[in-house]
Formats: sequence, structure tokens, C-alpha cells
Amino acid sequence: MSRYTGPSCKLCRREATKLFLKGEKCSTKCTLDKRQTPPGAARPRRGKTSEYALRLREKQKLRRMAGMNETSFARRVENASKSPESTGEALLRGLELRLDNIVRRLGFAASTKGARQMVLHGHIKVSGKAVNIPSFTVDTGDVISLDPALKDNTAVKLSLETAQKKSTRPTFLEFDEAGLTGKVVRLPDRTEMSYPVNEQLIIEYYSR
Ligand code: ZN
Repeated sequence: MSRYTGPSCKLCRREATKLFLKGEKCSTKCTLDKRQTPPGAARPRRGKTSEYALRLREKQKLRRMAGMNETSFARRVENASKSPESTGEALLRGLELRLDNIVRRLGFAASTKGARQMVLHGHIKVSGKAVNIPSFTVDTGDVISLDPALKDNTAVKLSLETAQKKSTRPTFLEFDEAGLTGKVVRLPDRTEMSYPVNEQLIIEYYSR
């Protein structure tokens, strides 16, 4: 499995937008603020951006924000196209309901990357059962809980505080602060989804 291990904010420069791969740190410490050119380019490209380039960049932006490799991302698009609802919405909802994303949105971790590690290390339970698969899809009624041993972890405390302060928790999740759990009360609608992308361009990229 290939995984990008380079500097997170190099990808912000590539996509010319902050991807928040390091969580809130990207607001204040993003290399995009210092250099607006894409990596490897001395100056911005001249000329018209092709339709293809537009679609490709939108796809890469979403794939990178979700922290996925091309193979599994393409498989998700393929599966979404079989859904009865619109492909774009099915794709975004599927990504939104990934366990790593839900862990981040509950404020247990500051970034998807951190959330994924938390899941992989067995710190997360879904309705009482340990689940160590970051791509696991949560469903309505599921209760996601954090290992109580992490309650006093500095990074966890900080991201819980940030989530509280910035009230970033969506209302499709019901957060219980005392028990450090979150319940999926309903499916998210389009306005509540994490990724600010034009999903139509992404669908078009794959329907060449
Ligand atoms: Zn950044």
C-alpha cells in the first residue's frame, strides 16, 4: 500500500488551498502562506487551465483531504456510482461516515491522520466493539467511544478543547463529554459534510 509520507503542507501548495491535513495547525503554520507556487514550480503556470486539469485537481484535493490512496478512492467512486442517489452525494456521504473522519469530527483527534492512528492502535470502539479499521463505515445509531485511558492524553485534551471552543461538532453526531462517546443520530446532509469540493468535477474525472 502506498502512502504519502512527505510534508503535509506541500500538498496544500500543490492544491493551492489549505487541506488541514495537520488539523488546526494548518491555519497558522501552513507553507502555502509563505509560497503560493506549486511544489517544483518557480513561478505560477501561465495560460489556460484545461478541463482535465480542473477535474484532476478537484479529485486530488478530495482524495488527499480524505487521506486515501488512488486505488481505494477509485473503488469508492465506482461503488457510489451504483447508489440510487446522486453519485457525488453518495461519495461524499461515504467519506463522511468513515470511522477515521467521525473520530476527527467528534474532536478525539485534530486531524484525519491522527484519527486514523487512534483507530489503528485500537483506541476506538463502535457500539462496544473494538474496531481498528479506519475505513469502517459508521451507521445511524452507532456509538463511537474513546479508550478512557486516553482521557488525560495531552493531544486528546487539546483537540477536545479546540472542538469545544470552535463548536466544530456537527449536529448529526451527539457528543457526550462525560463518557467521551459520540452517537450517530442521523445521516449527514450535504451542507454538513467536511469536504469543500465540487463533487461534479470529480465524477466527471472518472467518467472519461
Ligand atoms: Zn497546510
